[in-house]
Amino acid sequence: MAAHAQQLELAKDVPDLRKQWIATMDGRTRASHASIHGEVRLTKRQFSNGLMIPGDPSGPPEETINCRCRSVAIIPEVAAEVEKEAA
Ligand SMILES: [Zn+2]
Repeated sequence: MAAHAQQLELAKDVPDLRKQWIATMDGRTRASHASIHGEVRLTKRQFSNGLMIPGDPSGPPEETINCRCRSVAIIPEVAAEVEKEAA
């Protein structure tokens, strides 16, 4: 949560700031989270699973409880490269 607040704060100065979903890939990872591993979105947008961040407190419990994924901020200059790799 704190990380997301920081990302939103940063996005005020960097409007094109992106975020990337990083799944903790092991046997307990939700299939729905493993499948969006590496997904890049604008900071203010939801990921394709409807969450703003991994463990989003406003998300449904079945998508957030015990979620060990994280998200990282991606500056616009490298977003294109990251998106290419994730595709
Ligand atoms: Zn997760």
